[in-house]
Amino acid sequence: MSLPIVRCPQCHKEAEIDAVLTAQSNQNVIFNCPGCGYEARNIETSKG
Ligand SMILES: [Zn+2]
Repeated sequence: MSLPIVRCPQCHKEAEIDAVLTAQSNQNVIFNCPGCGYEARNIETSKG
């Protein structure tokens, strides 16, 4: 199975969700783009 792909809203680079999303212990999720360095917190994830 391949991981879901997430696209950066800023540079539109696509990366596997595991590479750009960091789940915090308090269930916050941080998105960090390896392409442009864009960072977003508490983004909404679409889990089913
Ligand atoms: Zn980006």
